[in-house]
Amino acid sequence: MKQGIHIISLGCSKNLVDAELLMRQLEKAGYRVEIDGEGSRAGIVVVNTCGFIGDAKEESVDEILAQVERKRGGEVKKVFVMGCLSQRYSTELKREIPEVDGWFGKFDWKGILAELGKQYDEAARDERSLSTPRHYAYLKISEGCDRTCSYCAIPLMTGPHRSRPFEEIIREAERLTGMGVKELLVIAQDSTYYGTELYGRNRLAELVDRLADVPGAEWIRIHYAYPAGFPFELLPVMRERPNVCKYLDIALQHCSDRMLRLMRRGVTGEQTRALVRRVREEVPGIVLRTTLMTGHPGETAADFREMVAFVRETRFERLGVFPYSHEEGTFCGNHYRDNVPGKVKQARAEEIMEIQREISAAFNAKRIGTRTRVLIDRVEGDGYAGRTEFDSPGVDPEVIVAGSAGKLEIGSFREFAIASAGDYDIHVI
Ligand code: SF4
Repeated sequence: MKQGIHIISLGCSKNLVDAELLMRQLEKAGYRVEIDGEGSRAGIVVVNTCGFIGDAKEESVDEILAQVERKRGGEVKKVFVMGCLSQRYSTELKREIPEVDGWFGKFDWKGILAELGKQYDEAARDERSLSTPRHYAYLKISEGCDRTCSYCAIPLMTGPHRSRPFEEIIREAERLTGMGVKELLVIAQDSTYYGTELYGRNRLAELVDRLADVPGAEWIRIHYAYPAGFPFELLPVMRERPNVCKYLDIALQHCSDRMLRLMRRGVTGEQTRALVRRVREEVPGIVLRTTLMTGHPGETAADFREMVAFVRETRFERLGVFPYSHEEGTFCGNHYRDNVPGKVKQARAEEIMEIQREISAAFNAKRIGTRTRVLIDRVEGDGYAGRTEFDSPGVDPEVIVAGSAGKLEIGSFREFAIASAGDYDIHVI
């Protein structure tokens, strides 16, 4: 019987790719490995932590403590911790939770294998075992970030921006589609910076164009774009390549000049609005997902009213809001007071999401009666759940397929008529 290892991966999709890389190495070392398995009875647990903001850190610490409790109860023999929280706070955590058998950095898979008395397989260094449903996979194109956003601790944990070699990414995409993957989700801390430090020029448009040539790649979806220095040459690729989703995830965070300056985003409110206009003009029918932040130090009621007006006028099809989290070691942590009360941060976030609910409902209502192509993700009740090219897994609404559609293959594409819609999900027949 192979020894079992259970990786619990918290945080973002980039962290999940790290867990999948580790999973492959452990399998090659002879272990039976699962990621985020329900009711796992594996003797060794690896908690892949997130250290981004307060809530995420708390979730990670709670998970570590839960696994340490299982170890005390004899359910698991060893508990290892890796990822961003461990990268950022290992000294303190080692002192506070001595029951953990090993603390490892964000990318220290070699350390975990060595702790198990195993060899790291250099030849398999960019091979992954997928934890996502077989028809979609995340494709990480770079690591780290060179931006200086005031509130962000990510560069403290991931280091500076490092693009993966162009051909290595293409080879991985070919390997993934060879394994049956149809949807490639392009991810990074800052995907729109791709190639800049490695090749001295931005190569994201070229990369996406090349990915669109990969046999079997039916959907290529771009996440984590950044507004400043946006590579406009990407837009014709998104417009002209049918298998590049008319979907762009671009975190804008705010729209007031004053707040964007305090956030050190390197872009103005007018540049932000102009960017949105140009993207929509050059890629007709594109769906935009953005993220905004409420309650950043210095945000006044007037700044927030400007954000409300911006959300009402821009009508993003997809939008999420984060209340500001004061993180030590960041520019904010070192230079600003956390002067917006927690209740106000939260109330502002809720007000934005209430407006967004109406915008999303109106966007959906316009689509009723039209036909749409759906990727079937899983069985749901007596029917299925899936997504259109406008929906990214785990963050966006879903398509509910009625049972009357009959038996469908998971991972297949089917065209349906949109029969009805809620504020977020749509129902098709
Ligand atoms: S772009 Fe800004 S928010 Fe995003 S990871 Fe980099 S520093 Fe953080």
